[in-house]
Amino acid sequence: MANGSEVVHGYPHLDTVRAAITALYRRLPQEGLYAYAGSVAPADVAFADGDDLHLGAQRVAHALVQQLRLPDARMIVSFREMTHAASVELAAGPEYFIELNDRFRTHRRDIGAALAHEITHVLLHRLGLSFPGTRDNEILTDTVTTYLGAGWLLLDAYREDGVSSQKLGYLTPEEFGYVLAKRALAFGEDPSPWFTSPQGYTAYTEGRTVALRDGRQPPLTAAGWAGRHRYAKDRRYAQDHPGAVTGLPYAFEGGGHEAALRVSFPCPTCHQRIRIPVRGRVRARCGLCRTVLECDT
Ligand SMILES: [Zn+2]
Ligand SMILES: [Zn+2]
Repeated sequence: MANGSEVVHGYPHLDTVRAAITALYRRLPQEGLYAYAGSVAPADVAFADGDDLHLGAQRVAHALVQQLRLPDARMIVSFREMTHAASVELAAGPEYFIELNDRFRTHRRDIGAALAHEITHVLLHRLGLSFPGTRDNEILTDTVTTYLGAGWLLLDAYREDGVSSQKLGYLTPEEFGYVLAKRALAFGEDPSPWFTSPQGYTAYTEGRTVALRDGRQPPLTAAGWAGRHRYAKDRRYAQDHPGAVTGLPYAFEGGGHEAALRVSFPCPTCHQRIRIPVRGRVRARCGLCRTVLECDT
């Protein structure tokens, strides 16, 4: 895990984040994800500066091992001087060695955030789930940490005041907020009360706006007037120009005189592409996450 440097904002990794959510649904289908319906509780990962360093780190690591459903894994946490914030040795287990940067000795409340990311590396290693390249693999790790209920800690570790800023992980604060909101929508959870960082909370509300927008894209019936108007125009064009590419989240296939027109679009929950015939009101069920979608095609 990288150490906080200049804090980047916005959504530069959004495509990879969405691909990570889809990959997670493919690897842990519905039943598997139900096990993660609750997030790790703030009290279970709380770490005051007065707590014993090593006992506290072991306790928080244990809570995160439980959260991430790694019952037989044992994390051995140590501290040393290093350039990174934290690292984990991905071995066969059941013991895994996690090293945390010495600075956490005096920033104990962020130990949970660092451990959440590293322990998710262990989970992904065991699931055999990875993305090629360090950057994408780290984005996968942050996304999965958050989607499985331990990543709100990473967003809450983001703080800024007049003189300094701190952020952990590879996603921007808004991207963490986005994934957290996607999770909240999927599991019916409200993470708002857990934030201690005002900046983390603000980033959550911003990410949530983008997450809600995913559910209001045409051909979903929840799309707004402007979106529906544009969709109708694009559909007419596709009808007359088979094979035309729109470049929008939705795309038409077929058309012309021979073939029936079909539309494909990303599922607002898992981002797997859904393909349905264009024939007015259609109720579709995502084949991957099983979400029922009301569409007006
Ligand atoms: Zn990492
Ligand atoms: Zn889906």
